[in-house]
Amino acid sequence: MSTDYVIVGSGVAGIAAAETLRAHVPGATITLISEDPAGFYSRPGLAYYLTGVIPDKQLFPQSAEALRALNLKWIQARVERIDTQACCLVLADKRRVPYDRLLLATGARAAAPDFPGGELDGVVTLDTYDDARRLVQRARRGTHAVVVGGGITAVELAEGLHARGCHVHYLLRGARYWANLLDAEESELIEGRLRADGIEIHYHTRIRQAVGTGGRLTAVETESGTQIPCKILAVAIGTRPRLELARTAGLTTDRGILADQFLKTNVPNIFAAGDVAQVYDPLTGQATLDTLWPTARAHGVVAAMNMAGTPMIYQRTVAANVTLLAGLPTTIIGVLGGANDDDLVAIARGNSETWLATVPTWVVVERHDVNRIRLMLGDRAINGALIIGDQTLARPIQRLIDAQADITAIRADLLAPGADVLALLHRFWTEWEAAHGPVS
Ligand SMILES: Cc1cc2nc3c(=O)[nH]c(=O)nc-3n(C[C@H](O)[C@H](O)[C@H](O)COP(=O)(O)OP(=O)(O)OC[C@H]3O[C@@H](n4cnc5c(N)ncnc54)[C@H](O)[C@@H]3O)c2cc1C
Repeated sequence: MSTDYVIVGSGVAGIAAAETLRAHVPGATITLISEDPAGFYSRPGLAYYLTGVIPDKQLFPQSAEALRALNLKWIQARVERIDTQACCLVLADKRRVPYDRLLLATGARAAAPDFPGGELDGVVTLDTYDDARRLVQRARRGTHAVVVGGGITAVELAEGLHARGCHVHYLLRGARYWANLLDAEESELIEGRLRADGIEIHYHTRIRQAVGTGGRLTAVETESGTQIPCKILAVAIGTRPRLELARTAGLTTDRGILADQFLKTNVPNIFAAGDVAQVYDPLTGQATLDTLWPTARAHGVVAAMNMAGTPMIYQRTVAANVTLLAGLPTTIIGVLGGANDDDLVAIARGNSETWLATVPTWVVVERHDVNRIRLMLGDRAINGALIIGDQTLARPIQRLIDAQADITAIRADLLAPGADVLALLHRFWTEWEAAHGPVS
């Protein structure tokens, strides 16, 4: 009898798992269930689609033929619950789908507005292809739009709506943008560019309620009583892993579904991967969430190997993201520490909880025009880095962090007042690369 593999979720974790299973158990029955009619697409790409930088067809990384070649039984439906006794899924239309091995790759969705009026037509979040298309239709030239939240997605929404001709108000609850990751100067750099584009930033501004008539948004009322007329209110205050199925099935959950190094949950034959999985790391003894595309893909591969019966440990790599912030290429790597961020109620998109760990660090900053390199130095190695603008050293620094390269030879020089950080890094990197091989 062949094994029935079932995957819930057509995001990158689910698709990576399907590809891996097909490669390792060629004859197996693989069922993929997803409620998203658009199937598999690049969620990070949605922001670029919104700004008009890419057409929507570029959001789809796989051709229809490539997906067909996986020979999946693809069901477009919402899974309502898991019957762990009978080992089957119950779909919203009451169909039952049996499984021998099940992967939950149900992702995360934007946290709901934490103020009254969030149900009004015009209050939006950016999770899916459908959300992005609807937002493009709403965003008419001259429309007033309000964006609230933090992290990458809030700025992407502000820029996207601005690019579509909207007049954008960006509301920050605190004194500056992305306060739990950026330093004050980096925040100001991003805010300055948004302002220069014509985006109005309102600091220390909390929404009391979204106001509407006939169910439609007409304005945002702030806690100081000011009303900002608007037809769009875009909310990006963090994400919540989609835990409904796991919780009702008795899986152990915390902020996400708790999974061990093999991506196994506490229930036999059920695995978790991607944004929904909070994965244990034996090195730190902690289980952490990531909302990163490459991490979700890696989870999907490892989960599938274990489902297929080939034991594989998920080796946590240093979390990194390359993104655009207010038009500036930005790379975020490793541990950066950080304060509270009033604009986020949960982990933002394109983030890792590991970025906010606090370890003893010495901070080195190199700045020139809009270019910044901030290094977080440990005793012997670089723990984290944030590189804005010129990305020449981004991959080398990432490699040095990944390898925990011993930098004691230049550490004191890096920390010396007036140090030429770029020259020191260039020289160190050239020698290190010669000894260890070129950057891939
Ligand atoms: C706007 C935006 C910007 C981003 N920017 C970045 C970035 O800069 N860098 C980066 O690395 N990452 C970024 N991300 C995050 C990245 O896209 C995610 O980490 C990744 O897509 C997670 O993949 P996943 O497969 O775990 O989940 P998802 O892609 O969320 O897929 C989950 C799937 O499960 C399905 N599903 C859930 N529940 C059910 C159910 N009950 N029944 C049926 N189907 C169900 C959903 O329909 C969906 O198909 C961004 C995401 C967004 C939305």
